[in-house]
Amino acid sequence: MSVLVYVEQADGKFKKSGFEAVSYAKAIADGQGTHLTAISIGNVGENELKELGKYGASKVLNVSSDQLKNFVNQAYASVIVEAAAKENADIVVLSNSFSGKGLAPRVAVKLKAGLVDGAVELPQTADGKFTVKKNAFSGKAFAVTELTSANKVIALNPNAFGTKESAGDATIENFIPEVKATDLTAIVKEIVRATDKISLPDAELVVSAGRGLKAPENWGMIEELANLLGAATACSKPVSDAGWRPHSEHVGQTGIAISPNLYIAIGISGAIQHLAGVSSSKVIVVINKDPEAPFFKVADYGIVGDAFEVVPKLIEALKAHKG
Ligand SMILES: Cc1cc2nc3c(=O)[nH]c(=O)nc-3n(C[C@H](O)[C@H](O)[C@H](O)COP(=O)(O)OP(=O)(O)OC[C@H]3O[C@@H](n4cnc5c(N)ncnc54)[C@H](O)[C@@H]3O)c2cc1C
Repeated sequence: MSVLVYVEQADGKFKKSGFEAVSYAKAIADGQGTHLTAISIGNVGENELKELGKYGASKVLNVSSDQLKNFVNQAYASVIVEAAAKENADIVVLSNSFSGKGLAPRVAVKLKAGLVDGAVELPQTADGKFTVKKNAFSGKAFAVTELTSANKVIALNPNAFGTKESAGDATIENFIPEVKATDLTAIVKEIVRATDKISLPDAELVVSAGRGLKAPENWGMIEELANLLGAATACSKPVSDAGWRPHSEHVGQTGIAISPNLYIAIGISGAIQHLAGVSSSKVIVVINKDPEAPFFKVADYGIVGDAFEVVPKLIEALKAHKG
């Protein structure tokens, strides 16, 4: 028995959420008294593969194939399952990212495994049971799920566990899976990035703004603040519905769910549908001119004030600090 973790890459580099999944899987492997194997699919260089050892993988299966260069849900799921069989892994860990959300159920079905998606803590194994705490109802509640199956699949919510280094070297092994034509009926030929900005789901810092900003031309100060902090930008639903900002920035129940280390909400009321996508952020800072705005109830820090006065002052202070 062992633990297998699938580590996502983009352009030959592992994502931070991938290192986090390895750290989490290593803690599970330690708890089970077994070892951790990581699997990488796509063209990743040896130095990058070795990085996985730093987070606890003792072996890395490297699948380097032009056919599998870009993410293909069905084929990647088959490769992960083949690797699990090869490694005799009974626990498979992935990140609950955009692609992880598609992969985890497919892997679980193929392995006849119980699945926990959106895990936020390490499994508890008291009394011989295997339970995992996960987000439920778009982050409005937690559910503790017991997995009773022999095989288990866990998809970890990004930023829920953090990365943890555990000194060690990984051996790299080339792995050539049997890819069936039926797994490649829909393939990604090319990926064209719409923006070079920090990707929202991976961002550790997020500056977000809502209808309180009044008009799209007022986003200059939001972008400036985000640039100074090295943060991604986000927005509320009405803002993207109005076309003030792209839909890719819309966070909440019907948008992207994020859990960055810092979420700064500017001119956003804090409606329950918005909170559903951001309430698991580690630290929430709210800037709103209405002291009764619901967002203040979940804020770690709140500034009651006009965004058009507060944000320029923050920018000034950050520039002075950086200077
Ligand atoms: C089924 C459903 C799904 C939904 N999904 C989502 C979702 O995924 N994401 C989402 O965001 N919403 C979602 N909504 C909409 C949600 O209910 C709210 O209507 C929306 O979040 C409000 O956006 P807002 O806070 O930007 O705007 P408003 O509610 O208009 O709030 C603007 C805020 O800005 C403050 N403000 C105004 N001027 C200033 C100023 N000068 N300085 C500082 N503060 C100022 C105001 O006090 C107010 O609190 C959904 C709704 C439904 C019904």
